[in-house]
Formats: sequence, structure tokens, C-alpha cells
Amino acid sequence: MSNRVFMCRCQKCGVQLEFTGSYEKFNDFMESKAFVCRGGHSEQRSPRHFLKLVTMSEPSPVTEWKPTDGLNYVDILDPLTTRVRNMQMDHLGSGLYIDRHTLTKYDYEEDAKGQRHYFEIRERRVIES
Ligand SMILES: [Zn+2]
Repeated sequence: MSNRVFMCRCQKCGVQLEFTGSYEKFNDFMESKAFVCRGGHSEQRSPRHFLKLVTMSEPSPVTEWKPTDGLNYVDILDPLTTRVRNMQMDHLGSGLYIDRHTLTKYDYEEDAKGQRHYFEIRERRVIES
């Protein structure tokens, strides 16, 4: 899985935090139950309540790309594929896409030739009261 760099700012104390990992990992982190901030406070709520995403880099290319087990690859850049699957793709920025019909998001891995291999993001949704 290819990594992005996520720059966040804590809205409580103002420090900047950098997170490196896949978009899925970043989402998991944002949904964690508790949060210890580099700014010195710890919280019993998820980082999503405190961190604001400032910038997100594009994923770093993978030198020897091969499909990752368990990922569902979909060629969302191919108009025929999206038409056949009745997808309505919308660009979210930094190469991330969402299908407006199913609300499924897509991230990509880039190989050494610069070709993008898109796959479905499995988002973990934690409902907090
Ligand atoms: Zn903080």
C-alpha cells in the first residue's frame, strides 16, 4: 500500500502533526478512541474532534508494484468501466476519488511508470455518541 503524508493542525493547542501512511491507516487513526497530542494534552475522544487536515500529499510511487492481496482494484479512470458499473466519480483532491452513488472512496498506488492503480478504500466508521 502506498503512503501519503498528512499534515494536520490541532485545533485545541495549535501544534502541527504529521502522519505518514495510507489513507486507510489515516482514517483508522482519526477514528481511534483516544488521542494524545504532541502539544501535551491527552483526550478521551477521537483525533477527529481535534485535528484539522491541512494538506495531504499524493502517494509515493511503488518501485516494484504488484497488486496487494485483499484490495479490490477498479479502473475508475476508464470511462467504460465507470459507465458499466453506473459509477459517478468525483475528484476529492490529491488523486482521491469518490463514487457519489455508493459513497465508496478510491485511493491509488502508483507504479514506477507513473500508472495509477485505483482500489476501494475500506473505511472504518465509528459512531460516537
Ligand atoms: Zn493539541
